[in-house]
Amino acid sequence: RPVLGVLALQGDVAEHLAMTERAGAVAVPVRRAAELSEVDGLVLPGGESTTMSRLLETFELLEPLRERLRAGLPAFGSCAGMILLARQALDGRPDQHQLDALDIVVRRNAFGRQVDSFEEDLEFTGVDGPPLHAVFIRAPWVEKAGQEVEVLARVPEAPGHQDAAARIVAVRQGMVLATAFHPELTGDERVHRLFVRIVRGQA
Ligand code: GLN
Repeated sequence: RPVLGVLALQGDVAEHLAMTERAGAVAVPVRRAAELSEVDGLVLPGGESTTMSRLLETFELLEPLRERLRAGLPAFGSCAGMILLARQALDGRPDQHQLDALDIVVRRNAFGRQVDSFEEDLEFTGVDGPPLHAVFIRAPWVEKAGQEVEVLARVPEAPGHQDAAARIVAVRQGMVLATAFHPELTGDERVHRLFVRIVRGQA
């Protein structure tokens, strides 16, 4: 089984650890560079990207993590994790760090007050079976995606949130996967299984 780290500085770490185990990997929390160097892939949880960005610096993980990502470390970010992995975050704090592992521009808290949190069933490329139930909590969307980026899911056209319709909410670029929503919260481990397959070189 691959050993997958879950960045354990802030956010819904426990949920990702549990889902990563259920998806067939060994899941370990990562708080220091020595722990980072031992994992085959890293999950960046949902939470608050500004706080996580600051803690990455405090825990002296920012440069080691950038280096491993440049060297091809597989990564999966949900929500705040997606924001961190992006090349650029709009509506973020100017001093927020970007890991620049995905050629995407995200907009933080993009869905706005009316739909601060919402749930939606999504078609998700690479995930077999029924549509994926997705939970969005003060979620970003992907405003721009580069040529190398594969779009895996978009918000369907639905009454009530026209602005959100067709917005990109899941992407993959090489070994890096990200969702604007929280697959760790629904008990459906199919997205985590996709990440395990990516780590194994099977997807
Ligand atoms: N709004 C948060 C941020 O900007 C992300 C929310 C989440 O991870 N649920 O970091």
